[in-house]
Amino acid sequence: MSDLMQLDEAYVAGTYARFPVALVRGEGALAYDENGKRYIDMGSGIGVTAFGFADKLWQQAVTEQLGMLQHTSNLYYTQPCALLAQQLCRRTGMKKVFFSNSGAEANECAIKTARKYAAEKKGADCYTIVTLRNSFHGRTITTLAATGQDHYHELFQPLTPGFVHTPANDIAALEETLSQHKVAGVLLECIQGEGGVVPLNADFVQAAARLCKEQDVLLMIDEVQTGNGRTGKLYAYMNYGVQPDIISTAKGLGGGLPLGATLLGEKVEFTLGPGDHGSTFGGNPVCCAGALSILNRLTDDFLAQVKEKEQLIFSALTGAPGILGVTGMGLMVGIQTEKPVAQVLAACRENGVLCLTAKDKLRLLPPLNIPMDLLQEALDVIKAACAQ
Ligand SMILES: *Cc1c(COP(=O)(O)O)cnc(C)c1O
Repeated sequence: MSDLMQLDEAYVAGTYARFPVALVRGEGALAYDENGKRYIDMGSGIGVTAFGFADKLWQQAVTEQLGMLQHTSNLYYTQPCALLAQQLCRRTGMKKVFFSNSGAEANECAIKTARKYAAEKKGADCYTIVTLRNSFHGRTITTLAATGQDHYHELFQPLTPGFVHTPANDIAALEETLSQHKVAGVLLECIQGEGGVVPLNADFVQAAARLCKEQDVLLMIDEVQTGNGRTGKLYAYMNYGVQPDIISTAKGLGGGLPLGATLLGEKVEFTLGPGDHGSTFGGNPVCCAGALSILNRLTDDFLAQVKEKEQLIFSALTGAPGILGVTGMGLMVGIQTEKPVAQVLAACRENGVLCLTAKDKLRLLPPLNIPMDLLQEALDVIKAACAQ
């Protein structure tokens, strides 16, 4: 263990099982550790650094804004915040945006909005939020309650009441759940990320959208991990032909600075009023300026390249020795390995490729602009690690 690793272990709360690597700098899809070892980054800080490390255009947008105003509070108007909200609405058909600082907070806002909408329209007892088993929605006490994985819940009781979980891809179970509770909203990830990169079936998502519409229940899509170009569409729901009432997003939106956004559709455009919600840092001009430089580059042409990279990954890995299955969409990929995933992960790392895991799968979330040659090089290392 290096001095830096020892220092960290001594003073940083032990909530993270860190990899034995201390990164000091990066450039695009490459990162270098304290010994100068080069790595290809197939994790992008868990889907955050959408255009890689130290991306020039993002840096320029951020530093220009830093030289003008770093923070104002939400008592004042600032241009990056307003422009980013406009862009997000234009590209999704949503009507308003609430900005926060993380995925959990983006979901908190979605949940609060659904609760208020239902309380005003259907009565104060109509507060239940339906989420899916095996989902992940965050680490706060409320978003933990939304998260449909028991192992995150143990020893943190009592969690916020008013959440029920139903199995993914089971339309009858969802119908049953909706009939048994007074439901304000249904919250789901189109691809369960932390749950093992498990895409939902189109017929299930479409049935959920139809049931929500029929029953005036809000359809809320958690796009924290799947959003901002990750699946080859701007948002993952766009692969499913549905229109959500609320979208939460974060991770890749800020390109590396903390930024969450909750996009509010027609039904809930005016649900939140002055004093209903807030965030000191939310909509920070530096974060928003960075996000604008990301969003503006997620063009149709660029997203088509993400799809090309998806094809390269799936054709390289599907059926390869030691690989039992490949799931996901775009540059969000789960790999079921024959060998224990920890072993594959370590072999990749030793050979200069940084990957992630999700449950018992290897998970890839490379920067969206990873060059084809580096992607190919990383895939060769991953294949070798799985096969050995
Ligand atoms: C990461 C994640 C969150 C939580 O985001 P934080 O920024 O860590 O609060 C919520 N939902 C999904 C789907 C995620 O992947």
